Amino acid sequence: MRHHCGMFRVTKHIDFCYGHRLLNYEGKCRHLHGHNGRVEVHIEAEKLDVRGMVQDFSDIKEAVKNWIDETLDHRMLLHKDDPILPLLKQRGELFYVMDENPTAENIAKLIFNHARAEGLPVVEVRLWETPTSSATYRG
Ligand SMILES: [Zn+2]
Repeated sequence: MRHHCGMFRVTKHIDFCYGHRLLNYEGKCRHLHGHNGRVEVHIEAEKLDVRGMVQDFSDIKEAVKNWIDETLDHRMLLHKDDPILPLLKQRGELFYVMDENPTAENIAKLIFNHARAEGLPVVEVRLWETPTSSATYRG
């Protein structure tokens, strides 16, 4: 019989501000606007390391928070076909270009993929776009 060991999970919250707008969309998010976003980075392990940890919180901070601070925080996250891009470039504004619409879903996936590329065994990233609306991407 298989022995079930259970699972540990650690979660790091990272707050950041971003602007965006959605193309091909009729709601409020079709206009340029901003959000105070909160990211949850979830990491799981069946066994703890020698320190008794799933992952050191400071590793998550190094790999994810620093990147968000430098790449996404206080920037416009825009679709690559957004017609405002040439103007922002010309004015030296800060932005991050995405291949897909910059929805909470796609931003969660972007952060998940970055964390994985940094070697973090992340299982789930949730982006809270407002205190009542979030999107989750799981590996
Ligand atoms: Zn929005």
